[in-house]
Amino acid sequence: MGLSHLLKFVYNNGTDEVIRRGKKIHAIGYVEFVEHDELLGSVTFRVKDDNYTTFYKVHIQQYKDPRALSVRCSCPYNLGDICRHETAALFQLQELLDKNILGDKSIVYHQRHTVVKMKTIDLKSIRMLSSPESCETAEKFLRTQKANIIQAKDERVEASLDIGKDHFPVVIQKNEERNFDTSCKCEEESHPLCVHKTILLLQLLNAFGPNYFDSIRNWEKEKNKLLEAYGYSMNDEGWDKKFEFTYKDGKPFLRVLDPSVKRIAPPVGGMPKPKPVEQAKVEENNVAAETMTVLNDQKIGIVFNAHHKTFPGFAIEAVNGEVSDGGDRFLGKVEKLDLAKFIPTEGMAEEDQTLLQGLRKMHLGEINKYVSRNSPFSGIWENIIHQEEDGLPADTEALIAEYLYPKLKKLFVEQENKALFFRLPTGKSFTTGHLLPVRISASPMVPALRVEKEGENFVVHCKAMVNELDIDPADNEWASDLVILYDNCLYLWDKVEDFEAVRHLLEEGKTILTPEDWPAFLQKQVMPLARQYKVDFEKSRVKEVGKGEPKIRRPLRKRANTWSSRRSSHTRATRYVTMKRTPSSFPKRNR
Ligand SMILES: [Zn+2]
Ligand SMILES: [Zn+2]
Repeated sequence: MGLSHLLKFVYNNGTDEVIRRGKKIHAIGYVEFVEHDELLGSVTFRVKDDNYTTFYKVHIQQYKDPRALSVRCSCPYNLGDICRHETAALFQLQELLDKNILGDKSIVYHQRHTVVKMKTIDLKSIRMLSSPESCETAEKFLRTQKANIIQAKDERVEASLDIGKDHFPVVIQKNEERNFDTSCKCEEESHPLCVHKTILLLQLLNAFGPNYFDSIRNWEKEKNKLLEAYGYSMNDEGWDKKFEFTYKDGKPFLRVLDPSVKRIAPPVGGMPKPKPVEQAKVEENNVAAETMTVLNDQKIGIVFNAHHKTFPGFAIEAVNGEVSDGGDRFLGKVEKLDLAKFIPTEGMAEEDQTLLQGLRKMHLGEINKYVSRNSPFSGIWENIIHQEEDGLPADTEALIAEYLYPKLKKLFVEQENKALFFRLPTGKSFTTGHLLPVRISASPMVPALRVEKEGENFVVHCKAMVNELDIDPADNEWASDLVILYDNCLYLWDKVEDFEAVRHLLEEGKTILTPEDWPAFLQKQVMPLARQYKVDFEKSRVKEVGKGEPKIRRPLRKRANTWSSRRSSHTRATRYVTMKRTPSSFPKRNR
């Protein structure tokens, strides 16, 4: 599935800043539906601004036709093709379309069978798919009463509800698309979820959490396979005293409760052997419980795997191995730990347990989950990655940086000179021999610019400074700009904002501007950076500037309807807009 044309429209026309804020406005629920004309394909929203208590009307016309689509907002923003209110409204419209609830009164729902498009029991979706009255009644009902659950297995819940004298049988089950089929006998026609279904869903959500249906999936075959590794099956009496299954992301994980139970040698052709570290690719297994034993004299090592090409240019992995007496190096081979799976921590040093927890959060799966939750491509995010071999959308990269950065910072600060760090160069398989020891530095790295003149042209160099050390991005020894590798030491930016502010300049190393392009570049790119970072102008350059005076112009303020002091905030807010990767708005460049 590709992007809908509405989202494409947003991503093609909105600046990064507009998209980010539009998404925020939508997420906090500032977009109110006003009216919809099915025939004309037009819809109107009332959108509250994220900074001011001002409301704007956004009209979207011909939304069904990608070629004729037009959007209009009553705000004075005119720095880009679309504003954040229009962006927010388009996200809202997409959500309404996805859920089949575009306030279209002509749709009649038959409660005997309605399909509810959500993957987990999600409160926000439930609220959108039921009427406000149903939600309120359901919440009230649940304070004192409950639906009577008759059966809950194989991703299907049957319940009965007694309200007054009436009796309502309700069924909710997962269908093949992983959405919910729901059924009730009542006459509610305006919303796909009647009050009874709402009661049952909220009750399940409160009692068991959003992934409840996964936990009642029939995993018997997979569970038996896991138990088999220990010589047990679910037919054995008392197996549940020795083992326990927990569910994470809807998959069963096996926990051995009885320490006397040991893994048995796998039968020939039976269980796959625990994967040795030599194996570069880890197969995606539906069932996850390759339990490994971690011994006392062992230690966790951290690997920056540069094999991972998409942003940020590395993946964080963990290895485990026997360490020398001083604990400063591994003896012999190390074992790769699969951070996506359950790793028993009994007998592991406490600091390693904490470290492991931190590393788990930086694992690709966790990053994906974060992006998926926060991206407008929720649920289809994976599809996009596969289509874009040469990089993720700038927006997604910003989400990844936002998620990963604080965790990296913590790792750098806490583990400098403590944990064992390695890097795996691009193109090398994950074997002990290929892991290169690397140092990390907790000293903050900040950007610095230098502007020089080369003939007619202006050249902007961007550097990274760590204490007295000046790092030229050209000397970065690997592909990641979020963490820079220099002289076999890894450096991290002081703040994620530092990285965001200069990342486009880092990629180029130096940016060359013609005299025609220079004034705009100076205003839009260099001056904002000069407020926070060191910017050196070459002497001859400074003289040159004398005429043009690189002072920030105060935005005009007109007291008419379309102009207000708000105008200045737009200018301020969009300061970084052109600094991000929007090649079309960039002046010509030479390498
Ligand atoms: Zn607007
Ligand atoms: Zn009902």
